[in-house]
Amino acid sequence: TTSVVVIGAGHAGVQTAEALRTMGHTGPLTLVGDEPALPYQRPPLSKEHLDIADAEPLPLRGTQFFTEQQIQLCTGVTVTMIDRSSSRVHLSDGRELPYDCLVLACGAANRSLPVPGSDLDGVHSLRTLADAEAVRAAMAGCESALVVGAGFIGLEFAAAARKRGLPVTVVEAAERPLGRALSAEMAEHITEAHRSNGVDLRLGAGVTAFLGDNGRVRGAIGTDGTEYTADLVLVGVGVVPRDELAVQAGLAVDNGIVVDEHLRTSDPDIYAIGDCASFPHLFTGTRVRLESVQNATDQARHVAAAVLGREDPGGYREVPWFWSHQGQLKLQIAGLRSSDDRALVLGDPADGKFSVCSYRGQRLVAVESLNRPADHMAARRLLAEGRSPAPEQLADPDFSLKTFAR
Ligand code: FAD
Repeated sequence: TTSVVVIGAGHAGVQTAEALRTMGHTGPLTLVGDEPALPYQRPPLSKEHLDIADAEPLPLRGTQFFTEQQIQLCTGVTVTMIDRSSSRVHLSDGRELPYDCLVLACGAANRSLPVPGSDLDGVHSLRTLADAEAVRAAMAGCESALVVGAGFIGLEFAAAARKRGLPVTVVEAAERPLGRALSAEMAEHITEAHRSNGVDLRLGAGVTAFLGDNGRVRGAIGTDGTEYTADLVLVGVGVVPRDELAVQAGLAVDNGIVVDEHLRTSDPDIYAIGDCASFPHLFTGTRVRLESVQNATDQARHVAAAVLGREDPGGYREVPWFWSHQGQLKLQIAGLRSSDDRALVLGDPADGKFSVCSYRGQRLVAVESLNRPADHMAARRLLAEGRSPAPEQLADPDFSLKTFAR
């Protein structure tokens, strides 16, 4: 029987273990994670978890699940090295585990801001449960917050801080929030919504230094010389893939661990999935590294099948989708757009419910929906089936994506 070791007990790692058992793998199965707690869901950390004073982490699976499924879960343990010549991994507690098959599900780490004062107390980032607890505790006594980076996490935090009535400034170096993955139409709407919610959102602005008193942050200096006052700073400037083990083991790495269409690394016994993996996307024809729960869990299922010799011969090809909740803004994205795609709006942005459909030529490639969940579900179906309404059809006021998708 094949012995499988999964490194990283996050969304991708836990789903791999579960899928292996569901699909009938009976051999030894070990899941190693360096965080101390029972594996938990990450998305709530920048949402509900910040709103509710005593919110508990949401476990991905209960303790009993791991016992019943005979998954050996090692928490608080780091894999320090992969020895490919002996097919063993070395653990921080001194143990060595042999494997026939290894799955790297190591996730990503927050990028830090290389400016003076980044290490002051009160300067936070948000990736783990421990980070979220620290941010929530800091919010309780906070007078004003500064967010660096108008990405998903920065804006989700800003919405949570406004809900508590805190003054919030967000500085973003780019000319629009949420990066180039989002259409300009949607980015513009989201910008205005945060501003009308009282967020001081400044585009084309960065920080050059954090200021402190006795080791505690009290503000920051902006790239244009503006002085910001804040006793809580959240830095949300993106992540870097955790590829250090792969690098040390001599596997190919390029903005993530390089895998083929079956999510196999340059070593056929080793797979990489989730936030840490760079894979060839069958929809875009390019290499991508995605950061979403959907990507982590669908890739986990694909790899479990591959380990058992039952992979989809066509390769991994699930439709990417994602969500972000920023106060009243419920954003859902299906597909992947690029900046040269044409954007067509469905519905009326003025009532806060609309979708942006992105076309490459005549082909629908992505749909961003704001408070329009039916469009999102329809879009996922259309993208999976490779069907597109003609762009002209969208101009008809009676056009419904849901009806078209039936
Ligand atoms: P992770 O969940 O990060 O798990 C990787 C685990 O591996 C970590 O616990 C890490 O510590 C561990 N690890 C790494 N190296 C080692 C090692 N050498 N030894 C042992 N353990 C190791 N996605 C959405 O789709 N919607 C959302 O609304 C959303 N909100 C988010 C909010 C926040 C605050 C964050 C941080 C992320 C959010 N995401 C969201 C993204 C989503 O959570 C990630 O894409 C997903 O967690 C990726 O799963 P993963 O298993 O690849 O990585």
